[in-house]
Amino acid sequence: MPSDEPTSIPTLEEKHNGVPARLLHKAKRAKSLIQDIATKPLRPRKRLPVIPQGIERSRFFLAIEELSKELGDENVEVNDKPLDDGWYMEPPNTHDGMAVTDEEELVASAVVYPGSTDDVQKIVLWANKYLIPVHPISMGRNFGYGGAAPRVRGAVVIDLGKRMNRILDINPEDCTCLVEPGVSYYALYEEVQRRGYKHLWVDVPDLGGGSVLGNALDHGVGYTPYGDHWAMHSGLEVVTPTGEVVRTGMGALPGNNTWQVFPYGFGPVIDGIFSQSNYGIVTKMGFGLMPDPGGHESFLYAFEKEEDLDQLVEIVRPLRIAMILDNAANIRHALQILALSGKPRTAFYQGEGAFPTEKMHEYLKGHPYGECTWLYFGTCYGPKETRQLKLDIIHREFMKVPGARRIDPTVLPPSDYFWSRDKISSGEPDLEELAWVNWWPNGGHVAFSPVAPTRGADALRLWHMAKKHWTVSGLDFFLDFVVGLRELHLIVECVYDRDDPRQRSTALEVMRALIDEAAEQGYGEYRTHLLLSDQVAGTYSWNNNALMKFNERLKDCLDPNGILAPGRSGIWPARYRGRGWEITGARKSSEGDGVAPPPGSTKL
Ligand code: ADP
Repeated sequence: MPSDEPTSIPTLEEKHNGVPARLLHKAKRAKSLIQDIATKPLRPRKRLPVIPQGIERSRFFLAIEELSKELGDENVEVNDKPLDDGWYMEPPNTHDGMAVTDEEELVASAVVYPGSTDDVQKIVLWANKYLIPVHPISMGRNFGYGGAAPRVRGAVVIDLGKRMNRILDINPEDCTCLVEPGVSYYALYEEVQRRGYKHLWVDVPDLGGGSVLGNALDHGVGYTPYGDHWAMHSGLEVVTPTGEVVRTGMGALPGNNTWQVFPYGFGPVIDGIFSQSNYGIVTKMGFGLMPDPGGHESFLYAFEKEEDLDQLVEIVRPLRIAMILDNAANIRHALQILALSGKPRTAFYQGEGAFPTEKMHEYLKGHPYGECTWLYFGTCYGPKETRQLKLDIIHREFMKVPGARRIDPTVLPPSDYFWSRDKISSGEPDLEELAWVNWWPNGGHVAFSPVAPTRGADALRLWHMAKKHWTVSGLDFFLDFVVGLRELHLIVECVYDRDDPRQRSTALEVMRALIDEAAEQGYGEYRTHLLLSDQVAGTYSWNNNALMKFNERLKDCLDPNGILAPGRSGIWPARYRGRGWEITGARKSSEGDGVAPPPGSTKL
């Protein structure tokens, strides 16, 4: 059970990953809701010490000593304490705070804190010298996808965020910024406000604690027209697995003043190989920031029946592609509204199995949104007259769905979730979204995130697929259909009690079944949990796995010793391949049988 009082939550002034003072009251509430029902104890460790495969214990500790001398004792920590899961605002950097397997499985042997790009180079050279796997994190808040956990048990986590958290530039004329890994959306937003750049917006995801840089690297999204974070980046600084420092785009030109305004530079655009990969450690990243469009207005529509999804998505496609709907379409299943209250599932229903649909409708009858199955949260941008044109078209089209209702925001209380979405869609990071993880005590979540064309038939097919597994598994799903522009991302969050081994394994099994079934029908995931990466990578198998073969050749060329995040996105270095590290089919263990000696050597 967490021991801290809610009052101990670090603020942004105290810690790079803290909460802004303006959101402290929300953080306290969220933390006490979690604490109220938490039952998971802090357990003594059973499997200590954790040493990565491929190095002897005495040599590993010798290596740690050497690194401590180089970086300072205070910047190298051996991970031998109980695994405190913390919570969103106080996340662990040694493991996944929402582990979906045994908590001791995917853990770091040590955590190191570089203070500069030079330090990152030193760590990488050290890792090559001792053949120790390293795993970079920016903030470690990648919840639902593995948090801070390394894929290889015992890898050394490089926590970049703790000491490399400077906002290097905010340019109010070009509307750009340049950040280090430890800058959260909260921190960037607060700094933009502090500098008085009221005309600059920061596109933020559902929660603002993630790293601006880390989120973009994992293809995260937000909800203003600048919501595709990777598309909005311009320029990277990267430390390669062999220790060189490369700047991409215009950053390669000494003395340039265009690094953040033109992403391509000259020659091949190599930026892409550093996202969702293990080819480099990104130490700086630039972004475009959206100028205030002169106003915004959020809106909400409710749709009655499950089948309405088909017609609604058909209406959404042309409107979204033409940018009449000018932010990511956000069609949510209404069960999440119950969970967004922060109350556990038992407050609504005490029975077993999937949450009954009738119970959901019964509750919604008394909610300001009323009885419905789908909710569309959207925002229009621009001065009043521009927005009104778009809002009128949207209203006319949405109301073609029988039973569709516009929910008048002016009747919603200020505490309603709608206003949180309104903030997020206008560049103000918030902390409400966390509440639904409280559906179970010790709540954790894992996501199934397939991509489809924005077509009613596809949306319905994915919905039926998800619903079938939801009903069979008995674990509840929270579904969100998000339309970036032409594509539809379905995000299915499966929630579980992370102290209940049965629920955890059901959650993982159901994710595996969904990935396979979706692939059979031609749908692939855009992002996944690190335990599911091998399976997802295996579905991208066109032409006899040509893509993975290419990825592996790149990996072997850039990282001959295979030290950087082995297994990330299913890409295993040569030294690990063919030794059972991949989790596919019947093989469920996350560990393989050793590693091979490095190229050109016969012994480790
Ligand atoms: P968040 O920003 O959401 O807290 P993390 O810091 O956990 O996310 O990063 C998400 C994933 O992206 C990590 O698992 C890691 O593999 C990768 N990653 C994060 N930061 C970097 C970086 N600076 N360089 C390379 N990979 C990174």
